[in-house]
Amino acid sequence: MMASALTSSSLCSSSGRAAAGHVIAPIVPTVPSRAPPCLHLLPSSTPTAVVTQQAARKTIVSCAAPRPNAASSVAQMVHQNSRPMKVIVAGAGIGGLVLAVALLKQGFEVQVFERDLTAIRGEGKYRGPIQVQSNALAALEAIDPEVAAEVLREGCITGDRVNGLCDGLTGEWYVKFDTFHPAVNKGLPVTRVISRVTLQQVLARAVERYGGPSIIQNGCCVTSFEERVKASGGTQVVVNLEDGREFTADVLIGADGIWSKIRRQLIGETKANYSGYTCYTGISDFTPADIDIVGYRVFLGNGQYFVSSDVGNGKMQWYGFHKESPGGTDQEGTRKARLLEIFGQWNDNVVDLIKATPEEDVLRRDIFDRPPIFTWAKGRVALLGDSAHAMQPNLGQGGCMAIEDAYELAIDLSKAVAARSGDAAAVDVGEVLRQYQANRLMRVSAIHGMAGMAAFMASTYKCYLGEGWSKWVESLRIPHPGRVIGRLVMLLTMPAVLDWVLGGNTDHVAPNRVSYCSLGDKPKAFAESRFGEFMADDASIVHASHADWLLVSERTAATGAAGGDANSSCECKGIYMGESALVGRSGSPASPALWVDDVHVHERHAQVWREGESGASSGSDGASSSGSGSSNGFFLKDLGTGRGTWVNGHRIADGSTVRLWPGDAVEFGRHPSHEVFKVKMQHVTLRSDELQGTRYNTLLVGKVREPKALVPEQQVAAEQAGFGGKLVAA
Ligand SMILES: Cc1cc2nc3c(=O)[nH]c(=O)nc-3n(C[C@H](O)[C@H](O)[C@H](O)COP(=O)(O)OP(=O)(O)OC[C@H]3O[C@@H](n4cnc5c(N)ncnc54)[C@H](O)[C@@H]3O)c2cc1C
Repeated sequence: MMASALTSSSLCSSSGRAAAGHVIAPIVPTVPSRAPPCLHLLPSSTPTAVVTQQAARKTIVSCAAPRPNAASSVAQMVHQNSRPMKVIVAGAGIGGLVLAVALLKQGFEVQVFERDLTAIRGEGKYRGPIQVQSNALAALEAIDPEVAAEVLREGCITGDRVNGLCDGLTGEWYVKFDTFHPAVNKGLPVTRVISRVTLQQVLARAVERYGGPSIIQNGCCVTSFEERVKASGGTQVVVNLEDGREFTADVLIGADGIWSKIRRQLIGETKANYSGYTCYTGISDFTPADIDIVGYRVFLGNGQYFVSSDVGNGKMQWYGFHKESPGGTDQEGTRKARLLEIFGQWNDNVVDLIKATPEEDVLRRDIFDRPPIFTWAKGRVALLGDSAHAMQPNLGQGGCMAIEDAYELAIDLSKAVAARSGDAAAVDVGEVLRQYQANRLMRVSAIHGMAGMAAFMASTYKCYLGEGWSKWVESLRIPHPGRVIGRLVMLLTMPAVLDWVLGGNTDHVAPNRVSYCSLGDKPKAFAESRFGEFMADDASIVHASHADWLLVSERTAATGAAGGDANSSCECKGIYMGESALVGRSGSPASPALWVDDVHVHERHAQVWREGESGASSGSDGASSSGSGSSNGFFLKDLGTGRGTWVNGHRIADGSTVRLWPGDAVEFGRHPSHEVFKVKMQHVTLRSDELQGTRYNTLLVGKVREPKALVPEQQVAAEQAGFGGKLVAA
């Protein structure tokens, strides 16, 4: 598999591979397809005839299973009449590998030089999962249905759920995105998140399938190039490697990333732009309460923001961005503590995720981009992906643009060869590469700009007036005008923006793929008709989540300090809210379900319970949901002892009932209290029988435990949620 595709540098010995022969491939367009969306449902994988370059020398074969509109008679002419055009690709990142697949399928001779394949194989831990959005998935389908099918299969679908921006502090929704309908309305696959390692392995395997095992050469650092006149007339590009070897080709593509050497030689030294942010990142075993409805969230703050995304298999990937000078480092073992200093006051979705990540899995890198450039190509050399347009990661489109680039470049080169009746030597390569640049420049520049704007917005967000200059003004909780206006602008523009980002390249790839809707892309845990409801109503997401509600107090195991600590295990005491439960003083003869160890607390102090859709249940002391205005919620009643109950620091009236929401902080008997109970939601698959209301227990946050049998209704919920019935401790 990978091992044979990833050849060692010792094999990197000669400049030429044997001619590739004739390949019919679907990428050169003939009649554009205008198949309406949702025409049919594709099976999960499409049968594909596999051909290597060697095999292709002798036979004319179709590389991909013919799609109704995909076969191209023009493509049959590619390389029929001469030796194939040879393309050297510097860099086996996403862009370089996708380009290699696309070109090999067109019968080009391809050589990929990669400086360090550990990045592909995954030894380099810094390569976390990547979002491959609908536009890039469509380009992949147009290049190679088999590769696309593998990516679709391996990826975790996030576009089938609600995604969006939230307030970092409170966790409240700011703006939600629907990336599902822009995709399915145009017959595109729905956005996935996939491990970079898996993605690159899928691509490298395809390169091997179509070209043989020696196409990708490891340990080959491209240092420079020059154009030389050939003895036979015309020019070629000579590519120099660090080890002194040189190789010749008709075309050199610099897909060597943000620090590209090809770029430096092509357009001269330009400074990368430090985004102002360092980025901590990690992956943890964690299942947010609303995972069945929410795919990813960006939590906004001032000078800091946090991104969390489902990456499948019970794991969440997160990025914590913090504004500071570049080059900062942390002492070993202190990253989580630093993150909790920065994000510790933010909502549970952020804090719990950080706590659940093992210290050694927290990584850090400074974020750079490059200002847009308008020359990507000169002579026989062109740039692709980050070497041409490294952008801020906020839109999750950097890699997607590299994939689109690869599609465009392969199609432009193929068309040019076909236009010369397959005579590669007759192609004006410089003109084709300029055309490629012109075809990509507008779209890429616009998306580059949007990514910059998204980064600016995410990091300058202020929830309340006074933030950053007056604590007192901030305490008045007047919504910041920037937040209000920004939200309005986003609500008005976002649908069109998403439509263009995800669907703006659709016509371009249409000749080589068929629009379709896949049943597998539909939301798994809720009816698609509820999308609108979740987009419009934040509370409906809370209520529809497959989650238990807890009233729980956390403290650091070693010190007993409230709140819990980053690096020591956290102890929890609390109850699952459901049937009516009494809160009272420790050791009380009333046998409260939740004990509070404080003499200020009454023996029968308060009551908590859940009311279902029917609103049938009520507190045993006759408590009811007065004034809630809605059934199906969680409630707290102060039992009128005069000792006092505080919710979020405000004392509620004696004997009154309040509705509880996730994140609410509840104190009994006094404020401030040494035991602060928080309302938390926990996905049903994480339910733990170790949580009980009489004493503190050490509970792992989000760590996988031994599977245990679920109670029947948990099993149903877990199955609906697409989990394998695995029980995970809190
Ligand atoms: C935190 C973060 C999150 C991101 N999330 C997303 C996301 O969700 N979705 C998305 O689409 N994009 C995302 N991106 C952007 C994405 O990672 C890049 O845009 C993408 O990797 C660019 O692909 P590339 O092939 O152009 O370059 P790279 O992936 O950087 O690959 C370049 C390759 O060239 C090799 N190389 C370098 N120099 C040489 C040389 N001289 N000779 C030979 N080989 C060389 C490198 O080893 C590397 O393998 C994110 C970026 C960051 C920083």
